[in-house]
Amino acid sequence: MFWNREIETIDRTALESLQFKKLSKALSDAASTPFYKKVFKENNVDVKKIRSLEHLKDLPFTTKADLRLSYPDGMVAVPRSEIVRMHASSGTTGKSTVIFYTAQDIADWADLIARSMMASGTTRDDVFQNMMGYGLFTGGLGLHYGAERLGCMVIPASSGNSLKQIQLMQDFHTTVIHITPSYALHLGDVVSEQGVNPPDLGVKRAYLGAEPYSEETRNKLQEQWGLTAYNSYGLSEMNGPGVSFECEEQCGMHIWEDFYIAEIINPDTGERLPDGEAGELVLTHINRAAMPIIRYRTRDLTRILPEPCACGRTHRRMERIKGRTDDMLIVGGVNVFPSQIESVLMKIPEVGNNYQIVLDRHENLDRLHIRVEIYSKMFQGDLKALERLKKKVVEELKALITVNPRIEFLEPGSLPPSTGKAVRVIDNRKI
Ligand code: AMP
Ligand code: ZN
Repeated sequence: MFWNREIETIDRTALESLQFKKLSKALSDAASTPFYKKVFKENNVDVKKIRSLEHLKDLPFTTKADLRLSYPDGMVAVPRSEIVRMHASSGTTGKSTVIFYTAQDIADWADLIARSMMASGTTRDDVFQNMMGYGLFTGGLGLHYGAERLGCMVIPASSGNSLKQIQLMQDFHTTVIHITPSYALHLGDVVSEQGVNPPDLGVKRAYLGAEPYSEETRNKLQEQWGLTAYNSYGLSEMNGPGVSFECEEQCGMHIWEDFYIAEIINPDTGERLPDGEAGELVLTHINRAAMPIIRYRTRDLTRILPEPCACGRTHRRMERIKGRTDDMLIVGGVNVFPSQIESVLMKIPEVGNNYQIVLDRHENLDRLHIRVEIYSKMFQGDLKALERLKKKVVEELKALITVNPRIEFLEPGSLPPSTGKAVRVIDNRKI
């Protein structure tokens, strides 16, 4: 099923000339922003001299650090009065990365999501329960607007509150859900604990994204719920969800190439790799007026699958994300950098020098456990002081990373001392 057959099956030559036309516009828009004005000048880039798509590889990359440096609006290409929405994602320390949209950008994004959902058979007859977080995170509102554009009945349930989710599914006959894979596994268990067989709820289709998961997890979920699950990939810097989506064939995600130019690079050398080779995904947004982003290093590792897809769409597909080139952790769908945790811990005078971040899954939900050495004198004081300190650490961490950690205090010397590159993160989750 096609939302826009013409654009989804456009021939590659026409697609590439459309990409070039949009790229030229994105580059001249970018050149008007304080950030790119400076970067292009420093790198002797004259955007007028970019005469083909091939030349894109001569342009500098943009990184998450650049977004932080230009916080809050150094990459904005339109007057403030044109902007109708912002979203934000966590950064490595302190400041988040902020993304802006004009009304047209929001409308185009909704259209792209409608296209993505219809590619796996969702129509206006479906009841869509959106269990991704609403708010600054793009997962909730991104699919919300797209599903409305498609004409579904949308239940803006947001994440969590499992019993309520189940009740909504039962009362309104939900047919399509959007959910993180880890929450889907957990919710399936809660449904069973309620004495209900998950397939009896009648959910036909799930869109799973926001965190890495394996083909085995997909299969397990399909079986547990009796539904068909489709992979959905996106990142806030590129709008949010809708960068690439699986079609009915379930064999890799079509990158919507009329919105994004995708390259795969060797993460160590920055050199562009041919289709089929695994490397880091680099994306250029060529369809956002408020905030064009050129050659963004996603840090996500994947491969382009150049073979044509049986569905007839000509937009190339990418493989499931295999990992990241940086140390970003995704905990319950939220991005967390170990450096954020460290920055909080090291500001607290009672905290010693050694700590460990342990991740595991309990009943399919991610748990963040932080083991912290504190100075011995703290253990000699009264227990109340220790409890107060624990509360303070939890609160400060929660304020920065939004995930609720479990804190364990240890006497100095309890954790293995580092004898080289410290191993601070122990990830016991099997994904
Ligand atoms: P955010 O900017 O907070 O939306 O986070 C974006 C990041 O989430 C991406 O760069 C990926 O690392 C991860 N992500 C999103 N969707 C998927 C997916 N389907 N599979 C694996 N990782 C994903
Ligand atoms: Zn396809």
